[in-house]
Amino acid sequence: MTKYDADVVVVGLGALGSMALWRLAARGVDVIGIEQFDIAHNLGSSHGDTRLFRTACFEHPDLGAMAVRSRDLFRELEDVTNTTLLTLTGGVMIGPPDSELIVGTRQAAATAGESVEELSWADVVERFPPHASTDPSYVGLWDPNAGAVRPEASISAAVQAAKAAGADVRVRTKVTGIREISDGVEVETEDRTYTARTVVVAAGTWIPKLLDLPGLTPVRTIMTWFRASEGVLGMDRMPVFIRHINDQQTIWGHGQIDGLPIKVGAPDNEYNVRPTDPDTIDRVLAEEDIAAARETVARYLDGIDPEPVLAYTCMITFSPDHQFVLGPRENGSRVIIAGGDSGHAFKHASAIGEFLAGSALGEPTSDRYAFVSPTRFQLTR
Ligand SMILES: Cc1cc2nc3c(=O)[nH]c(=O)nc-3n(C[C@H](O)[C@H](O)[C@H](O)COP(=O)(O)OP(=O)(O)OC[C@H]3O[C@@H](n4cnc5c(N)ncnc54)[C@H](O)[C@@H]3O)c2cc1C
Repeated sequence: MTKYDADVVVVGLGALGSMALWRLAARGVDVIGIEQFDIAHNLGSSHGDTRLFRTACFEHPDLGAMAVRSRDLFRELEDVTNTTLLTLTGGVMIGPPDSELIVGTRQAAATAGESVEELSWADVVERFPPHASTDPSYVGLWDPNAGAVRPEASISAAVQAAKAAGADVRVRTKVTGIREISDGVEVETEDRTYTARTVVVAAGTWIPKLLDLPGLTPVRTIMTWFRASEGVLGMDRMPVFIRHINDQQTIWGHGQIDGLPIKVGAPDNEYNVRPTDPDTIDRVLAEEDIAAARETVARYLDGIDPEPVLAYTCMITFSPDHQFVLGPRENGSRVIIAGGDSGHAFKHASAIGEFLAGSALGEPTSDRYAFVSPTRFQLTR
């Protein structure tokens, strides 16, 4: 019988990998996590201090249940590491009554068993002054279960909890190859090869470099922060929001939290969301990088200085249908894919980690996760 170095190796300890590592270690599984950089670095998809958290996720009807489970697990992670990771201040979705954002959020809340409050245009502009210029034909939905989750702190906490439960963690160690063998997998790094029964490949935008998955597209994008024109604009007057711009575009962001400036995301366009290579991405910001963000604030938001005070590059991995790609590469495969984040996975990361742990242990997949199965479309050549 083969002697393995571990039952499971997790490749990549960003959002999804750190949570998979924690859930595996918490179940007593012999697990090794391998990360090419340090824990909670700013070179992948999971930096920038905050991510929007919502349980009423208009992007797919099955995401709500995932977010509800994720909220519970973030709370558990806070308890075991004595940290604050998730702050629920409520959030507002703003758009035309028949838009995907409004109709989809209302439906998603109902499916997840959560409630949202209907707001008129007058409610929106009175309660949330930065949105005073909202089109009078728009309405709002107040989601009391929305808020902000802290990405770097969550990843650090997950790795800390995993280590406390027995996980072995290797940082500054790059995986250079993954091979499925007859009774397990080999995970090759620059200095040695690890054997395991199963590997979870949570390498974010680097996944296509490790597995032949041309269906996944890494893109470069940016994050921008701003100052209030006067005083402080906190989460009370500017809670997390998503606002409809047109049928293809939204803007998003939130007011000040943790002493940080205001965060605003511009509508995606061909320049600010474009294919990249994670090893050669241009991390130097150009005037064009911040132009859309500056214009967004000047045009749509009141009480905010449109000149950004901070901006960073970040990356997303899009799948063909913009949903995640999670589970065995093919039926029975010992290679578990954890990728295709499509720009909305952080809020679900702890639930995804739990799902990946089950997949790595060969547990049957719940139908609720069918929409993220790697076998739903042809990802390989
Ligand atoms: C601007 C922006 C805004 C966003 N807003 C939201 C939001 O509001 N709400 C939300 O839920 N989500 C949001 N997201 C999406 C969310 O941040 C991502 O879905 C999530 O962070 C993806 O995590 P990941 O684990 O796939 O990737 P990462 O966190 O990048 O992890 C991949 C890890 O694998 C490591 N790795 C790669 N290759 C190797 C190798 N060969 N060997 C060893 N290690 C390796 C990398 O170094 C990295 O640490 C946003 C994303 C961006 C960019």
